[in-house]
Amino acid sequence: MTKIAASIMVHAPDQALDDTTRAAQHGADLVELRVDGFTHDHNALARVVEESDLPCIVTCRPDWEGGQYQGDEHARISLFEHLAQCARPPAYIDIELAAYQRSSDTRRRIDRLVDHPGQVKPTSTGLILSSHDFKSRPIDLYQRVEAMAAAPACRIMKLAWYAKSLRDNLEAFELLASHHKPTIALCMGPFGLPSRVLAKKFGALLTFASIEPSAATAEGQPTIDQLKNLYRWDTITPTTRVFGVIGYPVAHSASPAIHNAAFDAVHHDAVYLPLSIPPEYEHFAATVGAWLDATDLHFRGASVTIPHKENLLRFAHERHANIEPLAEHIGAANTLVRHDNGSLHTTNTDCSAAIDSVCHALGILHADLAAQRVAVIGAGGVARAVVAGFAQHGATVVVYNRTLEKAQALADRFNGHTGKVVATPLDKLCDSWGQIYINCTPLGMHPHTDATPVPDPQKTWGPGTVVFDTIYNPTHTRLLRDARAAGCLTISGLDMFIRQAALQFKLWTNQDVPLDVFRRILTDRLTNSGT
Ligand code: NAP
Repeated sequence: MTKIAASIMVHAPDQALDDTTRAAQHGADLVELRVDGFTHDHNALARVVEESDLPCIVTCRPDWEGGQYQGDEHARISLFEHLAQCARPPAYIDIELAAYQRSSDTRRRIDRLVDHPGQVKPTSTGLILSSHDFKSRPIDLYQRVEAMAAAPACRIMKLAWYAKSLRDNLEAFELLASHHKPTIALCMGPFGLPSRVLAKKFGALLTFASIEPSAATAEGQPTIDQLKNLYRWDTITPTTRVFGVIGYPVAHSASPAIHNAAFDAVHHDAVYLPLSIPPEYEHFAATVGAWLDATDLHFRGASVTIPHKENLLRFAHERHANIEPLAEHIGAANTLVRHDNGSLHTTNTDCSAAIDSVCHALGILHADLAAQRVAVIGAGGVARAVVAGFAQHGATVVVYNRTLEKAQALADRFNGHTGKVVATPLDKLCDSWGQIYINCTPLGMHPHTDATPVPDPQKTWGPGTVVFDTIYNPTHTRLLRDARAAGCLTISGLDMFIRQAALQFKLWTNQDVPLDVFRRILTDRLTNSGT
């Protein structure tokens, strides 16, 4: 069973012991004591190892392998020799493969301390041979693996490198799957999160996590709480399905929180991750293609957001996916579904979510939209989905945009598809005659919460007007506050966000999502982020 090792930087013995206690309370299985910056007091470190609430890995990482230790090698190995004498010695000591290979003296002295087939004196301490590359995947990765595998004293192989893309994670998974010695294979940096969360799916010996975000000992390391409470660590098995939100940037997306909570709520064996892919189509196609082709990964779908919605549609064409006609019509998709038989399906849930939000708030049917006059503010990606939806249902739509040409292009695309769509400059908004106003610009979004696309609401709206802001962060934008003050009925972007996510969830799991779970998680998240 893959363990969680809390990585703890030792600055002082009492701090380290407090941290081991906190690590145990958070649910870690063992601790890695990073003693690189505290090597002068061997007895104090021995006390930490002996009194730790959890079994210890002791690591004294030299600066030439990304650590803080700058002393000489003889003194470093002497520290390990001292700790090996403890009444309760370390469960593991970690030595870099390079150090172990470079010096026969280091090798001889380390081999004397650890348990291995040739060991004559009883000891329980295991040797982790490790390799780290802070730039990229080392070109001699497999030679390093073979060297570790061939060393009789090496009980655990640890390979860590800086991931340049999400594809690096796949190689880490292959390493875990293909080696007989217990292995730790981790990718560092923002692209490496999957290797840390899915370590359990692929049978790694352990994954590293921190007690709190500021205590991370490597870039991209999650906290124990994130692993357990956000990424469903305790439920992950080799057959767990993998989903994610693809975007750039994507680290602050709320989607992992809501989808993982929903998987919990309906007991669906799946985990949902943030998946960062740089904007160019080549990156998107290569990464998503490789993830879909990795059969043991069970990658079953994704939410796709800025800047990849058009990329998803192009990819779906190239992969001969089933493409929902509406997504084709909009020219962008936000949902990828991979069925168990391997077939792909692509759709756009933004459009239905926007329409459903309005119909639900007004208590009307889709068919009733034909009688509505709708003012859409903005002509970007969300506006395109909103205009497509209303035009499809026969509404009359006026697109107001700062750049008239973009509004015109949008109108040209959708005018005549049942409804009527025309373009108008944004500064003509106060002369409009809409019944429903929909903001599809980022004006008013966190952190610029004082901004609004409707500077003169009293002139523009009256009681009975419906105002829908697609922004959901904050939930109560200035636009919606002004609209309420003018007696309008308001709809929050939170409603649309929840609905588009719920439609995705249904496509992936064939289960209705508990909407209250989505709403609670999102509201908590937005409140806690101070927005
Ligand atoms: P986008 O493609 O970048 O389009 C932004 C639009 O806003 C463009 O038409 C742009 O006008 C206009 N705009 C931007 N800054 C402006 C300014 N200072 N003054 C006037 N107009 C301005 O963005 P998008 O993907 O459509 O997203 C728009 C918003 O929708 C996001 O900010 C987000 O809050 C919201 N959203 C909500 C959901 C949901 O589920 N609730 C989902 C996705 C997005 P120009 O054409 O002149 O540049």
